[in-house]
Amino acid sequence: MIYLDNAATTRMYEGAVDVYKKYACQSFYNMSAGYNKAIEVAKDIDEIRKLILKKLGGKGDIIFTSGATESNNLAIYGNKRNGKWEYVFSEGEHPSVYNIAKDLQNQGFIVHFIRLREDGQIDYEQLQNVVNERTRIISVMHVSNETGAINDLKKINLIRQKFCPKALFHVDGVQAFCKLDYKIEDYNIDLYTISSHKFHGPKGVGALYVKNLNSLKNIIFGGGQEKGYRSGTENTSGIMAMGYAISHFNTKDNYDYVEKLKSVIKKELSVDEKIKIFDVGSPYILSVTFSGVNGETLMRALQDYDILVGNGSACSTKKAGNRVLESIGFNLDEIKSHIRISFSEELTLKEVEYAGKKMVEVYNNILEKVK
Ligand code: PMP
Repeated sequence: MIYLDNAATTRMYEGAVDVYKKYACQSFYNMSAGYNKAIEVAKDIDEIRKLILKKLGGKGDIIFTSGATESNNLAIYGNKRNGKWEYVFSEGEHPSVYNIAKDLQNQGFIVHFIRLREDGQIDYEQLQNVVNERTRIISVMHVSNETGAINDLKKINLIRQKFCPKALFHVDGVQAFCKLDYKIEDYNIDLYTISSHKFHGPKGVGALYVKNLNSLKNIIFGGGQEKGYRSGTENTSGIMAMGYAISHFNTKDNYDYVEKLKSVIKKELSVDEKIKIFDVGSPYILSVTFSGVNGETLMRALQDYDILVGNGSACSTKKAGNRVLESIGFNLDEIKSHIRISFSEELTLKEVEYAGKKMVEVYNNILEKVK
């Protein structure tokens, strides 16, 4: 199997599975219990908090959650305030942020949506024009899950500091964490979302980085775990396995390697001028349009050759159209004929070369048939 949909999810590291099992079957205690065995688990979990803070380069707190969708909800609803507050989101956000934006709008808040530029990044000028002293939160993703575009967080922070210093800066960092080298403190980020299954950890576990807990209110009520900000028994196996994945993910080496993978596939695809490659940022994600052929048809045809690609975010495949690509300015044919190729260090150069050749071949076969 040549798995080229690593932006949707990744295979768990075998070592992470072992750690998961250890905390499920041996050190399985509820970390809130008072006996020593449980206290030991709580200590191990605290080590993972430190590990995440170190990897992020931030001085704040880590709240463990069930994944990025929950982290995004906690970041935004947990900081929502009644009154004449305004909220700022980009049109490129994942549904777990975008649908919150829509909900806030339905609740009567003024919500600004920032357009995407041709290179997939947000329109910084528009951002500068819409923020004001009533801006409560600016929420912009780090790396686009659709295109790999990397937003300039430094620039966004400068706009925030100059025009709305009281606004909170939330970043959905799901496609960036572990994969890019950065320090969130350089961007003065208040809230940062991560999800374990995007970097070879288990599904259903993630975290929210919070710079200042005083600003946050819990959105889930219960036993008061995670300092009261996220009730519910912690997913200790998941958190420990996520920790394993973080410490075994080699950011620099993997980056250099996937860049090579990307250039191999680009070379293969560029032999056919009908194929348009949209390569705008992260080497982990490549957006490609195969003019005249439906992306979903191509995706299905490629799976017959054991090649798996994505056609848009797995979370939004059931929806018609593609809001993110539309915002960038893709036309209808480009949107329909789009697929997403996303890499991990587990692929070989040969596999990727073969996949690229097959894509060209299968695409042209389908084109012949639809003629
Ligand atoms: N944000 C982004 C940018 C994503 O790519 C995803 C996963 N597709 C999510 C949020 C949701 O993550 P989770 O599956 O952990 O809820």
